[in-house]
Amino acid sequence: MVSNEEIVVLPEEITTKIAAGEIIERPVNVVKELVENALDAGSDEIKIEIVRGGKGLIRVSDNGRGILPNELKKTVLRYGTSKIRSLADLTKINTFGFRGEALAAISSVSNFSIKSGRDCFDTYELFVDFGRISSFSVTAPYKGTIVTVENIFMEIPARYKFLRSNAAETREITNLIKQFIIINYNVTFHYYVDGKKIYTYIKGDSALNRIYELLGEKNLKAVEYKDKKYIISSIISDPSIQKHKADDIIISVNSRIVKDSIILKAIKQAYSFAIPHNKYPIVILNITVEGSEIDVNVHPAKHVIRWLDPNEIYQVVYNIVRNNISFGNKDLIEESDLWERTYSPNEKYNYKEVFNVLPFFNNDDSEDYSLAKNDTFKIIGQLFDTIILIEKGDKIYFIDQHIAHERVLFEKFLQNNTLDNNVSTYLSEPILYECDLDKIEFLEHALNEFLKIGFEFERFGRNAIKLIKVPSYILENAVADIFETLINEIDEISGETLRLKIITSLSCKAAIKANEKLSNVEMEKLVNDLFKTKNPYTCPHGRKIIYELTKEELYKKFNRMQ
Ligand code: ADP
Ligand code: MG
Repeated sequence: MVSNEEIVVLPEEITTKIAAGEIIERPVNVVKELVENALDAGSDEIKIEIVRGGKGLIRVSDNGRGILPNELKKTVLRYGTSKIRSLADLTKINTFGFRGEALAAISSVSNFSIKSGRDCFDTYELFVDFGRISSFSVTAPYKGTIVTVENIFMEIPARYKFLRSNAAETREITNLIKQFIIINYNVTFHYYVDGKKIYTYIKGDSALNRIYELLGEKNLKAVEYKDKKYIISSIISDPSIQKHKADDIIISVNSRIVKDSIILKAIKQAYSFAIPHNKYPIVILNITVEGSEIDVNVHPAKHVIRWLDPNEIYQVVYNIVRNNISFGNKDLIEESDLWERTYSPNEKYNYKEVFNVLPFFNNDDSEDYSLAKNDTFKIIGQLFDTIILIEKGDKIYFIDQHIAHERVLFEKFLQNNTLDNNVSTYLSEPILYECDLDKIEFLEHALNEFLKIGFEFERFGRNAIKLIKVPSYILENAVADIFETLINEIDEISGETLRLKIITSLSCKAAIKANEKLSNVEMEKLVNDLFKTKNPYTCPHGRKIIYELTKEELYKKFNRMQ
């Protein structure tokens, strides 16, 4: 019968399925909800089984506190939850947006069953097929809970068709499981794919050990941080570890794995001077914070959160990572101390005191990357007026002259953090720059940082500043340009990263350009300087400086063995 109403209120059967779509897009979302429930129930042993990328079957079995027989049916009701009681609870300590939606959603789009038992109670099993309860009965005793999800989206072709291949779905799930295993090292995990055992991890492990086994990396450092608001346990990789994907950056907030763009940005930024920008470190952050500091109800699947004070968490994470990445590299650490001294007036934390740095995992005093200590090199020449070619030991190095010089200058500027007067010279004629008021205020605020690298300016009238002193290493005819680009580029940057931005930008501007002929002496000086830097391989922007070719590789091209 066709209704003659134009507007109808959709029946609950449909609204639940619509809501389900927001929480459950893919099998990996189901796995996440079920494992989180198992962890919430206090389990310390969890088994996850998937078949055909989770499309065939997802089963999560736990040894947690279980569900009482007369409560079991409520678990699949929308908003059926034992975890909150009131609206106020939503923002209370440790709640994580529990809304009782997950099992309702999952059971409305699959052949679902939940079996649960507690000591002294019978074990019951409830079957729900695409939203309709089909059976509820006593079953063999089990202590804990087993949730089985089969044929996900089978009756909802519009959703089923968006699932990817079994292999792709499996990859996503395996990746998530790894994250659970690393974050919850006090829990035993078993993971099976298509009947085959993939992982077993027994509780009592350390996170470092689990990372080593799962990701194969050892050069990591554990750092504990605590202040009035945040407790952060972190694991940070040495810059020599450079991954192609951000998969191994794992962030958990109050034990929930989240994707947080602010934290990710802080991590990226902290590493930006140490590894190329298209590469990623391994970073594990376990953040514990009061529930009132975050809003987790931004995203139905709860993997996106909103921070009450995003700048603060950005700074905290940035500092933790920044102060600890350069394992053997004192300069980088000292340099961040300096910002604290300079910019600490509105920073509430004293990072030095609260850091408790644990010993490195592999105990070896990490090498500095510098090439200087090795044997000498021979300049072969300059290619295309841009690339310096040298022979060194059993290798041929192709060195980009511009990027190399950028790195040399960058490190020089870093060290010269208390530039004295003799590296700065007065301009024979001051240069005026017209700026809007905001910019002028910003520049005045940043004057200290500019002074340190040799620039001095003062306000000139309402709308301009007057540049009076410049670093003597910049050619006078390039000064006007460099300073202008500099002040344009450093717009809207907050205090702590300002100095690095200035230095990065300045190094780039002041460096030798490509397509510039160099004499042998100039090349030799540049290569020498480069090899003495802490990181001759990557420029401050993350670009590659050196391309290496071994003698062996070259000889192979000619089918020559030796
Ligand atoms: P939420 O986790 O937001 O409360 P769910 O739909 O995920 O909502 O779960 C509903 C309720 O079912 C939970 O609040 C909990 O009481 C119960 N539950 C679900 N899974 C388990 C489990 N593995 N062990 C014990 N109780 C569970
Ligand atoms: Mg849940």
